[in-house]
Parts: sequence; structure tokens; C-alpha cells
Amino acid sequence: MRLVASYTIQSDLIQHALEGYPNEICGLLIGNGNRILRIIPTENGATNKENAFIIPTSALNEHIPKLRAEGLELIGFYHSHPNSAPIPSETDIQELDNGLNLPHVLIGIIPPYAEIKAWVIKNKRVDPVEWVIGDEFLSDPIAPQSSAQYYAFMLSIFLSFMLFFIIALTLLPPAPELP
Ligand SMILES: [Zn+2]
Repeated sequence: MRLVASYTIQSDLIQHALEGYPNEICGLLIGNGNRILRIIPTENGATNKENAFIIPTSALNEHIPKLRAEGLELIGFYHSHPNSAPIPSETDIQELDNGLNLPHVLIGIIPPYAEIKAWVIKNKRVDPVEWVIGDEFLSDPIAPQSSAQYYAFMLSIFLSFMLFFIIALTLLPPAPELP
């Protein structure tokens, strides 16, 4: 599984984590399929915000119908880990297991450093999700080459090598005369 985001999305996530520091921040990942097109920061509903987060259900109820109208969907969640690594905590594993396959993006934040990792937590199992940046370039895989293109490419390499070799020979100084 992979999540694809732009540089802007990535810096928005880090920015949100920095603004909330030393509290945990959280929010929704919005997009299509595995492409994050927007983030929606939500309130952290936890009492102890330095060590916990709760995405209020009201935020889901408020945003999801509007997103559907735009052709977008909720594709995951995010929260920050102030002063620790972006690895799911024991509490995360217990509480984020929502039975859905929605990934969780974690932002480990130790200012000025930030690290992002994504995970799927399901049936108390934690699996890493590939975090890919630069969606514009990855949306269309490079078309496979036809065999004609391949042979033309190899032939051009061969011809340029031969040309180089011939030129190199013509540039050799004449052999010295033997006594
Ligand atoms: Zn956590």
C-alpha cells in the first residue's frame, strides 16, 4: 500500500505539527484513492493534548458530506508525535484500529526536525505504508518501450562508440621510427 502526496501537502502537515507543538495535533486526509489532495486540520478533543489526540466525530459529520459533493473522500487520518518518532504507540495500536483500511500518517516532530511515516493499523497489526512525494510525476507510469525502440537505442549507443573509437585512432601520434 502507498500514499501519494505533493510537497505542499507534506509541508502543510509539518506546519500543522509545528504550530501545535508541544501538543499533539490531528486531522483528516482527503483525496481520491491513495492520493492526498487536501488535509483538514481538526480540533484535538483529548484532555491531555501533550500525549493524546481525539478527532471529534463532529468534524467527520461536518466535512464528509461536503467532500462527497466535491467528488472527494476521506482517505486517512493524521496526528503528530511531539518529541517522539512517527511510530504508532501502544495506545495508537489499541485505539486507531477502526476496522477500516484507512491509513494513519504520523508526524514525529522534534523542532526543527520532522519525520513522516504512514501506517495501517488493523486487527492489532501495524503495517508500514509507502509515503510517496511528487504526485504529478508518478500518476502515469512511463510507457514501456517497444522492441524497435530498444534496438534503435542499442544501435545508437554502438554507433556512437564506434565513432568515438575511430576518432580516437585518428588522433594517435604517428609511431616513432625504430633505429
Ligand atoms: Zn500516536
